[in-house]
Amino acid sequence: MDTQVILDALKKHFNFEKFKSKLQKKAVIEICQRKNDVYVSMPTGSGKSLCYQLPAVLYEKKVTIVFSPLLALIKDQIDHLLALNIRAASLNSKTVVAERNALLADLKSVSPNTKLLYVCPEQTKTSTFKDLFYHLVKFDKLAYIVVDEAHCVSQWGHDFRPEYLKLGALRDDCAVPYIALTATAGAEVTKDIVSSLRLSKDHKKYKSSCFRHNLFYDVVYQNIIENPYQHLKDFIQDCLAEEEEISLPKEKKSCGIIYCRTREQTEIVSEKLKKMGVKALCYHAGLRNKDRLEYQDKWFDGDIPVICATISFGMGVDKGSVRFVVHWGVPKDPASYYQESGRAGRDGKPSKCRIYYNRSDKKAVEFHLAHDLGKARENEARRIKTENAIKGFNKIAAFCENPTECRHKLFSTHFGESMEDCKKMCDFCVDKTAVQKMSENFLTKSIQ
Ligand code: ADP
Ligand code: MG
Ligand code: ZN
Repeated sequence: MDTQVILDALKKHFNFEKFKSKLQKKAVIEICQRKNDVYVSMPTGSGKSLCYQLPAVLYEKKVTIVFSPLLALIKDQIDHLLALNIRAASLNSKTVVAERNALLADLKSVSPNTKLLYVCPEQTKTSTFKDLFYHLVKFDKLAYIVVDEAHCVSQWGHDFRPEYLKLGALRDDCAVPYIALTATAGAEVTKDIVSSLRLSKDHKKYKSSCFRHNLFYDVVYQNIIENPYQHLKDFIQDCLAEEEEISLPKEKKSCGIIYCRTREQTEIVSEKLKKMGVKALCYHAGLRNKDRLEYQDKWFDGDIPVICATISFGMGVDKGSVRFVVHWGVPKDPASYYQESGRAGRDGKPSKCRIYYNRSDKKAVEFHLAHDLGKARENEARRIKTENAIKGFNKIAAFCENPTECRHKLFSTHFGESMEDCKKMCDFCVDKTAVQKMSENFLTKSIQ
């Protein structure tokens, strides 16, 4: 298909002047050819939906089936498409009968008006779906089969959905291209997606790099610095200082997040900082709902720049001007650390990610994991999960205690990418000797 036709459709149907990224453009062009299965892995918010929606619209008289895990997500997508005048509908347990009948009648007509049909994976076992699916296959009315949030096929992922495992089997009956989409997935998850959805050997991959070029990573050992809280305060002031002169609306002013492992720690750290004159709040699940929301708003609106929080904070929080993310203690595993520290610098400006490591925190986590493992003996699935959690934790603990390479490689290895050293965006690349000396110093003191 001609690129100009695709660009025209982007403007005409979606009101966009250009593609959001080169990767989005390439993925759309490839999918429009309908030659290969396609795997798209890009971070949340990068416009993965368009990668299949535009081709679906362009492919006349055919229907695209989109598998999506949640009714809420489906509803959002459909509302959005209908507002753009694109015919989209959903087949799910909540569809009312009259609507369902009208939808099925359209889909079974000679040239359906519906372009995109959103389906929860649970539907595949219903006779309505089976019947419809075979009809669409028989009369060659399918354009694509799309699996959104494809990481749900993997037990390695955090959102495993057993029903997703059945989606690959639909291939036995039809020969339309499969499009699998997910946010940045680890190497194991990617492998599971490819094998479970039976993507063809020569499927095309569109994967953005996990490297965040504006984030500086380092590790500081709490027990070899004189006053950890003073050290933290200096770091915060350093990170927040740059823009003081410039007059920005308060919600765009620099701010930061300090992640702590426990509720108590969020309170202790925020109190210490407040006593030292830093405007800070704490956030955790033990707060009253009203307070929690109020604190989150205060941080979000820029009234209070520093929030000390458990990891429940940040889901769906998309604030550009986060200049630092501190982990006070040790993160859970490489994937969590990538996600949590990745909340820094969304606006592309230089930002810092630092772990204030300490041994006692590590011991506490190990204790909990050992306990979980003991309890999981009976249950195979839980045991595997806990064993994976332990592996992940050991990786991040080694990353802190025995640095041997560019810090960014923790992530590239996890996501199965190869990368050069970052050169100047981590403590190790800036001064390897100093980092190794500190680590030796830390290890010596910790043994005593
Ligand atoms: P993802 O699924 O990758 O998280 P979405 O598909 O939900 O992302 O898209 C995120 C946002 O990007 C949406 O608001 C969408 O309208 C917007 N978007 C997608 N493509 C473009 C584009 N070419 N130009 C501008 N905005 C776009
Ligand atoms: Mg999406
Ligand atoms: Zn580096």
